[in-house]
Amino acid sequence: METIRLPDERPLFLSIDDFIEAMETRESCFLCLRDMDAVGATRENVIPRWILKQYDLFDQSVTIGDQTQLAYRRHTVPCCPTCNAFLGQQIEKPIRDRLLEWPRRLKDDFRDYEFHEKLYCWLSLLHFKSLYKDVFITHYDEENRKQYRLGEGRDWFVHHHVNSLCRLAFPELSIDPKALGSMLFFVLPEDGSEPFDFVTFHEASTMMVRVGQ
Ligand SMILES: [Zn+2]
Repeated sequence: METIRLPDERPLFLSIDDFIEAMETRESCFLCLRDMDAVGATRENVIPRWILKQYDLFDQSVTIGDQTQLAYRRHTVPCCPTCNAFLGQQIEKPIRDRLLEWPRRLKDDFRDYEFHEKLYCWLSLLHFKSLYKDVFITHYDEENRKQYRLGEGRDWFVHHHVNSLCRLAFPELSIDPKALGSMLFFVLPEDGSEPFDFVTFHEASTMMVRVGQ
């Protein structure tokens, strides 16, 4: 299927070839994958700022691969101003307002398909941003004595679907319900443990995020 673009060049759908090409150039907005020189550069936190603020995480660090510890405040990816604005309005604000009310509102939110769709998009965003961040992380291969980028040689083909779901942040886009995968929710006991956690299993297109209880 060919790439379908809006008048401002944001893609409603990116062909697999165009997606892979954008992943290999490293100069793109993570969401619309337009060239950063053309659309202006800002940064988007992989873990949304409202979570970093809520759980005081700015100076705590995330482990990337087996060599890199990075402060959450620097755990960012390129994002153009247009996409940044859509993310805030369409996804982050409604998700933040609901999740801060969990687990009290969890059962009601289960019955709200529009919210369900936004939540799946939000999880896809977290997953894809963390994948894309790897493209900018350099590691050292002791055995072969050379540097390499963590995301180098990744099979981007298998991540095309997750990237497509992220663009539900664009108000012009709708997604067939069959495109969504599974989500599992757990309410944890209040036992004083860390209120936030985030783990991705890229190979299996799976992730876990803990936000509060
Ligand atoms: Zn963009």
